Amino acid sequence: MSSKKLVVATQNRKKLEEIKEILKDLHLKIISLADYPQAPRIRENGSTFKENAVKKALKIAKFTGELTLGEDSGLCVQALGGAPGVYSARFSGQAKNDDKNNSKLLKMLLKIPFKKRSAYYACAVALADKNGLIGVVEGRCRGKIANIAQGDFGFGYDPLFLIPKYKKTFAQLGAAVKHRMSHRFRALAKAKKNLAAYFKRGNVFDNKA
Ligand code: IMP
Repeated sequence: MSSKKLVVATQNRKKLEEIKEILKDLHLKIISLADYPQAPRIRENGSTFKENAVKKALKIAKFTGELTLGEDSGLCVQALGGAPGVYSARFSGQAKNDDKNNSKLLKMLLKIPFKKRSAYYACAVALADKNGLIGVVEGRCRGKIANIAQGDFGFGYDPLFLIPKYKKTFAQLGAAVKHRMSHRFRALAKAKKNLAAYFKRGNVFDNKA
């Protein structure tokens, strides 16, 4: 087991699984907030994904004293002026219910024709250690919102997020496809290079998002 430790500042088990899978070649010991039951709660009240990711990374790095990854992500739908955006998890209420979020989205898009249902997922990844912020990057993935939910893989809006090239949703396409083109994969690909440099030389980060 690697001695290089990374705390991922999330409670979301599915997100953590994806992050572990995408970072597996770095051979890090990856732990999460599940390992820190006393960790402070983070209010995700930023107006951008980057702001929220930075807040998560800084707060948990300060609490744990460990290198920490903060991730914030969501779905932006063009016909809805970018909503649900940073409110993606709580789109239908505080309870963070994926099924209710998807139903609300379908309802709001009921009269929107397919050609106008463009959307993208965005993911911001921030890294911080006990000395403060190291850097923040972002990745995006474009798609369309389907008319009905299809597929079982993934989480959140994946049953509705259609990849036009495959004519299938992320939930139908599964891990092999999602993990090589998702917003999370793209943000982590940038962060990965910088993590490797950080471990090699110390606090080095390229902020190009
Ligand atoms: P966060 O924990 O505030 O970053 O919440 C992110 C929310 O955005 C999730 O609860 C989902 O609703 C949505 N989301 C982010 N990434 C994905 C994804 O990869 N698939 C599906 N939904 C996602």
